[in-house]
Amino acid sequence: MTESYGAIRGADFDTSDTLSTFSMSLEGRDGAGKTHFALMTCPTPIVHINFGDRDATSFLYGMEKERRDKVTLYSFQPKEIAGWTRKECSDSLKGLAEIANEHLKDGNLKGGTFILDSGSSWWEAIQEVKVAPKEEERMASGDKKMGGLIYQEGNLLVRGTIGWIKRQGAFTILTHTKKQRWDAQGPIQGVFDPQLNTRVPYLVEVRLDLRMDCVKCGSPDCSKGGHQGRVQVGRFLKCANIEYVGLELKPPTFKAVYAMQIGRAFPKEEELR
Ligand SMILES: [Zn+2]
Repeated sequence: MTESYGAIRGADFDTSDTLSTFSMSLEGRDGAGKTHFALMTCPTPIVHINFGDRDATSFLYGMEKERRDKVTLYSFQPKEIAGWTRKECSDSLKGLAEIANEHLKDGNLKGGTFILDSGSSWWEAIQEVKVAPKEEERMASGDKKMGGLIYQEGNLLVRGTIGWIKRQGAFTILTHTKKQRWDAQGPIQGVFDPQLNTRVPYLVEVRLDLRMDCVKCGSPDCSKGGHQGRVQVGRFLKCANIEYVGLELKPPTFKAVYAMQIGRAFPKEEELR
């Protein structure tokens, strides 16, 4: 029984220096340093997928050669300025599956990091391929009853992908862009929501909210003259140790997040350089 279902026996489990991997959602507005945190502080080897948001090539200049040699960047971009076509979305999802298979299978990226940047755009592509056609079908048929079922296939893909990556032994990072909330009167001042699939907060083990505070006055929205410096702040929205929820790291690093989530130091210091 334990054999066929891959059970983990507590008695045989070595807790001495086992690397514990987890998945993580990095949330923040544009410019909050999500890609920076992921590419510059997470353990190598790293596979980074740019899902049409921002080209990550510039980060290669800021890395030591030792780190740069262990980083692979992929990029999916729409061909036209109008944005992604359904065919491009579909191709990008197929491409992502091929890349993940190539880099992760057989534990090839064990202990390293797989970055989906951004998870917001990935979810938009999934909706275009898996949800929009069903919605169009429903509209055409005049059926009003389908409701939440039209999201089922998209939700299964999100859950399946995150679970599969985790089982290959790599850390998984999904970045999520925060956008200003609107009501009937227009944008609501100071209120921002992450653009993510509704299951993601339950699927990931860690959620970190990133922002940039002014070094002089501490405000996240400072526009005062002469106030140039910014410091990155990461606030735990979710952590295995619930006493850390709400705690702020200045600046946040993967090393600190690992120690707080797992309860001991990251064992492979050389992979963080
Ligand atoms: Zn300021």
